[in-house]
Amino acid sequence: MKRLALFAATVLVPCGLLVVFGWVMIRQDRELAARHAEDERRAAAQQQQRERMARLQGMKRAATEAFFAGRQPPVDFAAQVTDGNIRTPWETAPSQMPDLESCEHAEFTGDDAAACYQRASETVHDARRKALIQLLLGRALSRVHQDGRAVLVNRELLATPFSLADEQGVPFAYYAADRLLGIPAETPVVRSRFRQEEPSAAAPSAAYLLKSIGDRLGDAALQNRAAAAIEFANQVESLEADLPALLPALRRDDPVWIEHGAWQISLAKTPESGKELLVGIASSRLPAQVATPVTSAPSPRTGLYLAALALVFFIAASGAYLLWRDVQRDVQLAEMRSQFVSSVSHELKTPLTAIRMFAETLRIRPASQVVSREEYLDTILNESERLSRLVDNVLDFSKIEQGRKLYRLQPISIGAVMDTAVRAAQYPLQQAGFTLKVAAGEELPLVNADADALQQAVLNLVMNAMKYSGERKEIEIETRREDGAVVIGVRDYGIGIPVEYQGRIFERFYRVPSAEHQRVPGAGLGLTLVAHIAKAHGGEVTVESTPGTGSLFALRLPVEQRV
Ligand code: ADP
Repeated sequence: MKRLALFAATVLVPCGLLVVFGWVMIRQDRELAARHAEDERRAAAQQQQRERMARLQGMKRAATEAFFAGRQPPVDFAAQVTDGNIRTPWETAPSQMPDLESCEHAEFTGDDAAACYQRASETVHDARRKALIQLLLGRALSRVHQDGRAVLVNRELLATPFSLADEQGVPFAYYAADRLLGIPAETPVVRSRFRQEEPSAAAPSAAYLLKSIGDRLGDAALQNRAAAAIEFANQVESLEADLPALLPALRRDDPVWIEHGAWQISLAKTPESGKELLVGIASSRLPAQVATPVTSAPSPRTGLYLAALALVFFIAASGAYLLWRDVQRDVQLAEMRSQFVSSVSHELKTPLTAIRMFAETLRIRPASQVVSREEYLDTILNESERLSRLVDNVLDFSKIEQGRKLYRLQPISIGAVMDTAVRAAQYPLQQAGFTLKVAAGEELPLVNADADALQQAVLNLVMNAMKYSGERKEIEIETRREDGAVVIGVRDYGIGIPVEYQGRIFERFYRVPSAEHQRVPGAGLGLTLVAHIAKAHGGEVTVESTPGTGSLFALRLPVEQRV
């Protein structure tokens, strides 16, 4: 629990803080990027607005100049404002009409009105007046059913330019077209006339008449044009209605442009005459105000932060894992050490008790039978040898741990080492009722080895064979040559070692955790020393074992010593 808290405090909490901190940084970076994008968008919109204004002002200037110079202003709508009202361009001063009263009277009385108009027409020279008389003449002729002549008069009128219009701004040619369309045969004449000249329809009445002509001709282009003209007329009409309300604002600031319907409108003043001109420009003619989208894409730094964060997190996690593993190992080792101390004490205690017991017996009864005395002394000797073996193991292990264990290698005979080891094992084996078979094979070569260490290794294997023997008290030792190595094999028919533990028995303090093994006293050092000795000689120790059947430990030493 304490370890877990420590681990959390040193690794998890800093890791968590790091992640939170990184996340906050990424968020701040995102917000900054968004604000930046918004600023950019606003600046772009302002720039757009400035350009738009400059363009509108330019157009207004050009329109004012053209208008007062009597030219066609290059805008969609331009009209002078007088007394707060617009004077539409098509409103012309009523022309002085010739005195046609007598002719009109003749129309009602049934006299020859046509002849009257004819005469009147011959006396005027102004095109507009002449056209008006022609119009009336055509009407008079139709009324008296002089259709042929009426057609001729209307055809003549149809040929007049579209700019020639009456007081309402309706071209005379439109009236003529309207009449001629009543006669099916005349349709082609009208159609070809409207293809000759681009029809204009600034005035509302002209627009409606043009629409009717377009409908009857079934001419889509004309219809479209008329529709646009009607829209224009409506726009002008609503502008006329709204102007009183708009004028104060238009007059107050300059430059000001107000959106009205489909137009942007503004007022221009001529400095010299103080005349006011209302200018309208279709919004569709201006570049559309494109709103630059706010870039929501993460800034490249965000990716970098994320990668760095992931890296740091990865390193921290790996560090944490390694630390955790190390701590686990240390804890395990500490547990093993404490177990080792208790096992060693226990192991030391057994022979010491025996020695003490027999020594005391000898002291109390010095005159006991000679045989018993011999036996007691042998036991004391045997137990003290066991004791010194154990102490040797512990001391050697401590030297190995400190890196101070030295081996004195010299050419020695394996046979001699085996003899000494067997002799040392003889007594305890006999006491426990074991039979030891030694199978010395062919003549073995000398090996470069530390005789004491090798003897200790063999003795450890033999003592283990005895300790873990179980029922069948047989041990076999065999020496043989094998591929440039000398192999010493120690076989028992004891409890064996489950395969999953076989790889670990050479680790320090390791003892197979089964109840059968734990019953036997031990400190987990014997095989560690064997393995170390084998390695120091350039060899190895291996095990083959089946639980319940027995084990075979093989100590392999190369003949050609590398060390
Ligand atoms: P120990 O003092 O416990 O015998 P060792 O290092 O000599 O320590 O052996 C390690 C463990 O290997 C023993 O605790 C035992 O479980 C197992 N072992 C060693 N030799 C044998 C054997 N001949 N038969 C069965 N198990 C063995």
